[in-house]
Amino acid sequence: MEDKTLVCQDCGKEFIFTAGEQQFYKDKGFDNEPKRCKECREKRKAARRASREAAPAE
Ligand SMILES: [Zn+2]
Repeated sequence: MEDKTLVCQDCGKEFIFTAGEQQFYKDKGFDNEPKRCKECREKRKAARRASREAAPAE
């Protein structure tokens, strides 16, 4: 497997989907590729966490 260059859906920047990550996705049974770069994924994760803290689930 080879590293792939993908374009982030959020910021439009190119990012590398490494062979290791592709293997990880395959192991997990995901057949879609990541749509966002790591930075944007982290941002979304942080945003999700922040909104959960603002409105805690019971
Ligand atoms: Zn991005």
